[in-house]
Amino acid sequence: MAEATEKPLNFIEQIIEDDLAAGKNDGRVLTRFPPEPNGYLHIGHAKSICLNFGVAQKYGGKTNLRFDDTNPVTEETEYVESIKADVKWLGFDWAEELYASDYFDQLYEFALKLIQKGLAYVDDSTSEEMAAMKGTPTLAGINSPYRERTIEENLDLFTRMKNGEFAEGTHVLRAKINMASTNMLMRDPIIYRIKFATHHRTGDKWCIYPMYDFAHGQSDSIEQITHSICTLEFVPHRELYDWCIESLEIFPSKQYEFARLNLSYAITSKRKLLQLVNENFVTGWDDPRMPTISGMRRRGYTPEAIREFCDRIGVAKRDNLIDVSLLEFCVREHLNKVSTRVMAVLDPIKVVITNYPEGQVEELTAENNPEDHESGSRPMPFSREILIEKDDFMENPTKKYFRLGPGLMVRLKHAYIIKCDDIVKDENGEIVELHCSYIENSRSGNDTSGINVKGTIHWVSEAHAVDAEVRLYDRLFKVEDPSREDGDFKEYLNPDSLEVITAKVEPALKHATLGTPYQFLRKGYFCLDPDSTADTLVFNKTVGLKDTWAKEAGK
Ligand code: ATP
Ligand code: MG
Repeated sequence: MAEATEKPLNFIEQIIEDDLAAGKNDGRVLTRFPPEPNGYLHIGHAKSICLNFGVAQKYGGKTNLRFDDTNPVTEETEYVESIKADVKWLGFDWAEELYASDYFDQLYEFALKLIQKGLAYVDDSTSEEMAAMKGTPTLAGINSPYRERTIEENLDLFTRMKNGEFAEGTHVLRAKINMASTNMLMRDPIIYRIKFATHHRTGDKWCIYPMYDFAHGQSDSIEQITHSICTLEFVPHRELYDWCIESLEIFPSKQYEFARLNLSYAITSKRKLLQLVNENFVTGWDDPRMPTISGMRRRGYTPEAIREFCDRIGVAKRDNLIDVSLLEFCVREHLNKVSTRVMAVLDPIKVVITNYPEGQVEELTAENNPEDHESGSRPMPFSREILIEKDDFMENPTKKYFRLGPGLMVRLKHAYIIKCDDIVKDENGEIVELHCSYIENSRSGNDTSGINVKGTIHWVSEAHAVDAEVRLYDRLFKVEDPSREDGDFKEYLNPDSLEVITAKVEPALKHATLGTPYQFLRKGYFCLDPDSTADTLVFNKTVGLKDTWAKEAGK
């Protein structure tokens, strides 16, 4: 249990501790993560996963993965598979893999039980008629003319609904609660409707399907879930959740609500993300610009970083917008510990080291990760012709410029100190190459030159460097909260969210592997993209070394 030195309990943990102290549920904690398989999981789901699995782990409990697949129209097996892969990748193991559709028989029995108790009736009204009788939040509704049907008549009609005797929209089963309730959801909610649709698991067995409110709580109860954690929009549903459980006299699962995670410059709605995919604004659910778990994985975010982010934002009771720079901070912090340092020049200019023998190649040694001394080192070829970043040279350097300029010295990482002697320009006055000389006894690790230079820059040997396509990403949206803006959210897409360049990378990257984080020295964190082939390397920029947006804002 929580120790005094740990951070304060969130309100869900507090509830669980109180329940445990009161001896509820025989000391058992069982939560569930209940995605509807109608899209890929996003960062908001990651929050829910971390919370559900996290509290269960903390209190020695378990978590079920339950697919909330009661709507036959929007669900697909592809989504089920992606959801399982994403939960596993985040680092969690579920106790049981379950499907609400496996409870269809049981839910049907529950509906019969309600009818038998006089607590449900078949309504033949059209949806317009029902809407007209529903009332408003300030005005009570009126009872349906079908509300007082006998139990026998209801049983007969409901059975015939199930047997496919009626067309869609002609009949529904409603709970008989209170048409004057201040909670609109309690005004005789629909609990079953007719739908002639093929379900991804039950096929054509059913032509009636339970509504969310009649499936979710009962599924929790069937599994004996102790703490059913969901987001705030379900607060008004809680009364109905409890009503169903009490009326059916089944295991009393309890629902608790927390605030959805909303992330700045992103959308967290599967329905809207699906539009971006279908209308080709992105290359797929796993486009590295997407706030989906699969997109973040492809982008190079790590499960550790995402879990840390979910932990840092805590569990709120009020909706808020979390700054994406906090997520990026967590990613950067983790990648700094685990990434292999390599050299890549994104915007090259050639440097000829005039006093270095032509044709000579030296194998220098480069440390893989100074944060992890067990990570080893790799050879780094050095030769007379190298490439450096264009912006590591300034023709008219300012006072505090410590990189290369006419007459200035700089250290080449893992190599020598060089001095710029000459600039070679083309007929248009563009700089085409720099002529430098190297200080022979200044090699890193064995520097006896006594020269002190302030700047160190990265480089690659031109003859040994490899071409790589590098995909640089910016925010997918131009505005902080695209869902809150007027009009279509797609109008707020950032047209410059992807830039593709060709970089020159050190030869060791020929053997780069998927899933390995790299730091391109001084440039940021990158990872190999699955689009890479045997002869073309493709890298994604995961995140920069510093928060460039914070800099912009502070300008
Ligand atoms: P979407 O609108 O993206 O489809 P949803 O809530 O309908 O989201 P579900 O598949 O029903 O998606 O969600 C599974 C679980 O994840 C639910 O318990 C839901 O409350 C939770 N969840 C979904 N989005 C968020 C979010 N942004 N923040 C926290 N939890 C979320
Ligand atoms: Mg949903």
